[in-house]
Amino acid sequence: MAKLQRWNEAVLRVAVAVPVYRLFDYLVPEQFERSNIKPGVRLEVPFGKAKKIAVLVECVQHSDVELDKLKRAERILDEEPLLSAKDLELLHWAGRYYHHPLGEVFSAAFPVMLRQGKSAVIQAEKRYALTDSGKAIDSELLKRTPKQKSVLEKFQAHQSSLSEAELSAWNDNWKSSVKQLIDKRLLQLAESGSRANFALGAAEAIIRNNALECNPQQQAAIDAVCDSLGRFGVFLLEGVTGSGKTEVYMQVIRTVLERGQQVLVLLPEITLTPQLEQRFMQRFTVSIAVSHSKLTDRQRACAWLQMQRGECAILLGTRSALFTPLQNPGLIILDEEHDSSFKQQEGFRFSARDVAVVRGKLLNIPVLLGSATPALESLHNVDNKRYRLLHLPERAGNATAPALQLLDIRNKRMQEGLSEALIGEMRLTLAKNEQVLLFLNRRGFAPTLICHGCGWVARCRRCDANLVIHYDEGMLRCHHCGQEQRLIRQCPSCKIGELTPLGLGTERVEKVLAELFADKVIVRLDRDSTQRKGSLENYLQQINQGSVNIILGTQMLAKGHHFPNVTLVAILDVDSGLFSIDFHAPEKLAQMIVQVSGRAGRAEKPGRVIMQTRQPEHPLLMTLIRQDYRSFAKIALAERKEAALPPFSYQALLRVQATNAEMPKLFLHAVVELANEHSKGHTQILGPVAAPMARRAGLYRYQLLFQSGKRPELHALLDVLMPLIEKLKQAKKVRWSLDVDPVDLY
Ligand code: ADP
Ligand code: ZN
Ligand code: ZN
Repeated sequence: MAKLQRWNEAVLRVAVAVPVYRLFDYLVPEQFERSNIKPGVRLEVPFGKAKKIAVLVECVQHSDVELDKLKRAERILDEEPLLSAKDLELLHWAGRYYHHPLGEVFSAAFPVMLRQGKSAVIQAEKRYALTDSGKAIDSELLKRTPKQKSVLEKFQAHQSSLSEAELSAWNDNWKSSVKQLIDKRLLQLAESGSRANFALGAAEAIIRNNALECNPQQQAAIDAVCDSLGRFGVFLLEGVTGSGKTEVYMQVIRTVLERGQQVLVLLPEITLTPQLEQRFMQRFTVSIAVSHSKLTDRQRACAWLQMQRGECAILLGTRSALFTPLQNPGLIILDEEHDSSFKQQEGFRFSARDVAVVRGKLLNIPVLLGSATPALESLHNVDNKRYRLLHLPERAGNATAPALQLLDIRNKRMQEGLSEALIGEMRLTLAKNEQVLLFLNRRGFAPTLICHGCGWVARCRRCDANLVIHYDEGMLRCHHCGQEQRLIRQCPSCKIGELTPLGLGTERVEKVLAELFADKVIVRLDRDSTQRKGSLENYLQQINQGSVNIILGTQMLAKGHHFPNVTLVAILDVDSGLFSIDFHAPEKLAQMIVQVSGRAGRAEKPGRVIMQTRQPEHPLLMTLIRQDYRSFAKIALAERKEAALPPFSYQALLRVQATNAEMPKLFLHAVVELANEHSKGHTQILGPVAAPMARRAGLYRYQLLFQSGKRPELHALLDVLMPLIEKLKQAKKVRWSLDVDPVDLY
């Protein structure tokens, strides 16, 4: 290490978004008052041959680099820090806990535009609102101009002004219609104050008078959280779908707003439906910011800054919104806390749930986690008294819970995945003019194209995976790397055999449904059918208006949506979830079943759930049917304890890939050697083994699992190991990443 030096000049220690485990030192820019520079500001620094945007982490008095080798920062971008001291503390913690380079952690906290060094002063967007005639008019009068009609209806449903961001999130083509509606004097530019600008400390009239009267369990939950405002505490609100969790959130939020504080609401990526936003808009008059991946960079930066400056009271966002700075934080809510989209699956692999809890602790505010099917980790934390359980055992209002039923399909005749018995049930339901929902978690036409003559299978050239048939587009596509080619008609191997699709995808089921139920309206909801912006919302609207009879879809259906007129739900292929090698699989399957079931019978009509299976005696399925999710969770946790698996032990997975087939293994052997040198013997080092998908996108993949019964020991080892791994000579020839608390082992 170079000699420690002391100067009169301050040294700026900054985080730069590069994948190395260190910070970088710079001198204060020429002609700059050092006393003015506070941690949390962005600056531009020379870095190699380029310039990069960095974040000031601390000002120090010395550097290990010699004075004449230190470069000067080019300029300071912000007068005031964008991140508070607590925000910085949280990022430091996250960098340490996930053993991830601090520069990348810091970068993840900012929206893209600010990362790029754009100004933190962003023009607020225009808002539009209905005029009095716009409020009064029947939208049917606009039926000749359907685009204008749908924009008008959007405004009428919201009963308040909408920003450009909100409109764009809903539909790309709103601009001309809004202009025409303004010309017709049905819409107007809203004055900036039309949605109560959230002046902190002076929150009056923040709520419209449409709160529901709560049942005793809801009230108990609300009281428990409200009593804890101003203090740290984690609450797990467990309630079946439809039990009124959202109502609890809204009533707690109201109290937080009355205290003049802000609320951060985190949702899984797919659940972030306009439905929840709309409910919040209808309930609260304060400004609500929204942040998710469908918005533009500008919109996301705007939401971030509005929360940072305290101009918005509520932020509805997905995982990445977790780090949004808050002027006056009061509460963090995480809805569907079990959802795996809260875990980032690349780069900085943080769990938004776990970091939210740490953030709540740092800020000294409560954290409210909600789910119908809590993660086993969270239930374990309740057992440990780390989280407090709030239970909503029944559905709110008049809705009754759906009845679950197994349908044994062994030796039964099937039509593209539908048994005769199921088809019969569907007919009965449809005859009553009620909706049917079919769940199949595989998109495309069929997962495999095989030659009936010679057994040739269409494989991805770059992955250990089959190509999926997308019949409508006439394509074969790899769902792992995106590689695609035209659907072929002739077997490339034997040239004569017949090519046959093997297995089921949503597209294939859709085709047979169209034949079996020719007079019914069928909607398919999956990633392919909802790619266009606004299309998912359109489908949901059609479903809610009752113009759809059968809804068919993937996991997109399992989350958050209300389908009040659905009374029959069928899970077409429950067995495919029963035999995974990942120990998380039973938990995920049970959650999926309960979540999908929750879509049925939400209004007055009771619902039924049918699961087609060839494993009618399977213990997991039996427990769910005869008892409930909680009983399943109890058994599953006991099994995890027996096997010393998380949450009874702690894991970190080191994943490696390279174009060279041998390199990942060689690298991991070197890591094992290092680990054995530094391990105190309490951490198991399992592997290296080939990844379950040994080749993906042309890269060979290996992995190494660290597991320990004691979290501090695992982390102590990783603390020593990670900086050393970075310096291994093989490290330059592979891509590697560490996943702390992995949620899937692939
Ligand atoms: P969850 O978020 O648990 O799925 P919601 O809060 O969305 O449940 O409530 C489900 C339905 O029940 C909604 O239509 C809601 O308006 C209604 N609801 C909630 N709480 C009550 C209540 N106390 N009385 C009557 N209806 C209620
Ligand atoms: Zn062939
Ligand atoms: Zn591929």
